Amino acid sequence: MRWHAAGDVRLEEVELELPLGPGMVEAEVRFCGICGSDLAEFRHPFAIRPEKAHPLTGQRPPLTLGHEFSAVVSAVGAGVDQVAVGGRVSADACWRCGRCAACVSGRYNQCLYSGSIGLSSDGAFAARVRFPAYCAVPLPEAVGDEVGALLEPLAVGLHALDRADARAGERVVVIGYGPVGAATALIARSLGLEPLVCELAPGRRTRAEAHGFETHEPEPEGRDFARAVRAWSGGGAEIVVDCSGAVPALEAAMEMTARGGRIVIAGIPKRPVPVDPGRMVVYERSLIGTLGYANDLPRVARMIASGSLEPSVMITRRIPLSEVADEIARLAEDPRDEVKVLAEIGR
Ligand SMILES: [Zn+2]
Ligand SMILES: [Zn+2]
Repeated sequence: MRWHAAGDVRLEEVELELPLGPGMVEAEVRFCGICGSDLAEFRHPFAIRPEKAHPLTGQRPPLTLGHEFSAVVSAVGAGVDQVAVGGRVSADACWRCGRCAACVSGRYNQCLYSGSIGLSSDGAFAARVRFPAYCAVPLPEAVGDEVGALLEPLAVGLHALDRADARAGERVVVIGYGPVGAATALIARSLGLEPLVCELAPGRRTRAEAHGFETHEPEPEGRDFARAVRAWSGGGAEIVVDCSGAVPALEAAMEMTARGGRIVIAGIPKRPVPVDPGRMVVYERSLIGTLGYANDLPRVARMIASGSLEPSVMITRRIPLSEVADEIARLAEDPRDEVKVLAEIGR
């Protein structure tokens, strides 16, 4: 399922382009989820650079999309000992150089040359996918193939909460209940935090309630929204994670934390949002960005295996690979109330 240009994704028969060189893995895909970034690339190229080859992968469009997947290893290149043929895996989608300051410090999501499987190299909306062995995350026995395809989006939620130094017992307001919001709320609950989900769309709000979350319909006035959430938390939540990327939501988020609160920006608003530094300084609030994840997928796998996290409720629709292109076009137009749409690719 190849990305050719904005508005142009199609199913076609191609050979794998990346060689199975040293340090590379080839795997047969089981499940692959549609991500908000796939929809963003369909609307307008953002991470995909149509004009030049990626410095780490050497690939340029057309590219196979898909970076949230589970698969079974079918071949390994020279020097690969992290995984073996027949092993069930998911993947951390980050290509990294391994040499820049960010990589050396372990924050490879900040790599100077970073790229993503399915955006910078051929991804997993395909029968087979090749990727670096350092991306492979072995799936524990207790983590099934379907749920295995959720590790990547769940890691985004875990990283957002880690960025805020979230601790059990704290109250966290999650704004937006799309895939990132759902992942954040589910992870928050399993870490012992108390989430409140704020979501405008009635369908998604109902979805959050069905998943057992307390919900709130945001007031149209940002000030009233912030006041209502402060009332819920008796003076302000410790953490707010804005997963909506909406300007009014982020403006309200900055006013709904307690003193010492942490405001995590997980969605990117379309225009700059004014910040009142006084409101940050006087209440010692922190404004924190979060990007993807780094070393978070194995921890998510352990949370699922231990039974503390049950994320299969995120899957709201299953489709065959042949329907992915149409589904991406439909969701890019209107995400409806879907949380995670999974393509079932191999069995
Ligand atoms: Zn994703
Ligand atoms: Zn690097």
